[in-house]
Amino acid sequence: MKKPVYMDYAATTPVDPAVANEMMKYLTLDGVFGNPASRTHAYGWQAEAAVETARKQVAELIHADPREIVWTSGATESDNLALKGAVAGRQGVHVVTSRIEHKAVVDTCKWLEGQGVEVTWLNPAADGTIACDQVMDALRDNTVLVSLMLVNNELGSITDVASIGSELRKRGILFHVDAAQAAGKMPVDVTSMPVDLLALSGHKVYGPKGVGALYVRRSPDVRIEACIHGGGHERGMRSGTLPTHQIVGMGQAFALARAELEQEMAKLEALREAFLEGLSSLDGVSLNGSVTRRVPGIVNLSFEGVEAESLMLGLRDLAVSSGSACASATVEPSYVLCGIGLSDEQAHRALRFSFGRFTTEEEVAFASSQIVDVVSRLRAVR
Ligand SMILES: *Cc1c(COP(=O)(O)O)cnc(C)c1O
Repeated sequence: MKKPVYMDYAATTPVDPAVANEMMKYLTLDGVFGNPASRTHAYGWQAEAAVETARKQVAELIHADPREIVWTSGATESDNLALKGAVAGRQGVHVVTSRIEHKAVVDTCKWLEGQGVEVTWLNPAADGTIACDQVMDALRDNTVLVSLMLVNNELGSITDVASIGSELRKRGILFHVDAAQAAGKMPVDVTSMPVDLLALSGHKVYGPKGVGALYVRRSPDVRIEACIHGGGHERGMRSGTLPTHQIVGMGQAFALARAELEQEMAKLEALREAFLEGLSSLDGVSLNGSVTRRVPGIVNLSFEGVEAESLMLGLRDLAVSSGSACASATVEPSYVLCGIGLSDEQAHRALRFSFGRFTTEEEVAFASSQIVDVVSRLRAVR
């Protein structure tokens, strides 16, 4: 069977072959398989050196100090560690977040609510961004933490975390940013972006699944409690034997992302323009999320009069995402699309197309012509 064209890079990316090759060297007896925490022999030292090289590579992409990088199992764990770790042991505190965060933040904040933490859920503007004023208006005397994503995974819209961060810094309030969809897709620089905690994932950037990192600022010094206790790895913030091959993979992937960033952004811009151009013969197509503040690889579109579910059935040759979560018999519309003010009906008509490193012009042309055909056909039988 011919595989559908992959247009779901925002869900995950394939591991870059250069990354996979590097990872292979850290698994078997003839490779560097040692425990990076083994201090008494060369197996451990070599593994530790590889982990530290990767730490530097990840730090470099975001202009951080390697000592500010804590390895985790992915951005979900990084978000959990940031939020729970910042609030742990503090009574009567208040946290601010938004309604369109990734579930890793939404569900962690809901859990914190259950633990007695007050949470304010901000409503984004129609373009999917949160304004600085909105955040400031939500602050209270007992606010200890704000958590907002840099790039929204369903919309691709970019929130101005630099402005929000500098206001929060003046007030001494911690700022956590989920940057899983931003790393490798736009410049991310913690020297000009006053964030305290920043979550990263390996598999959104052509690295392996199951590895991520949390940036924890050293100056001013940010303290968080561990969620996973054990051998005291990662300066006590996250115990557990480090998965050398996964970490090496994430490091390589981030080094590649840094080297390719400008070229890749330009390529994805061009692909997006070609894709939209290919759809220009269709009426009733609207772009969800910000038109101007966005990363180039994510395009979320609503098609008037066409259910996304039927459209996806027609688009068997494309692997795309509807953002709807199928809960047993009922299909719930995306909470992100509802969060930016779309009606249930409009949200049910949206599909997310996301492109990446291995997407070709031919694939994009094929995708838009398929969409034109299927949408026209579905509209004709209405
Ligand atoms: C994918 C993603 C996550 C979760 O990352 P994992 O590494 O899969 O746990 C969190 N936040 C955002 C914005 C994401 O896109």
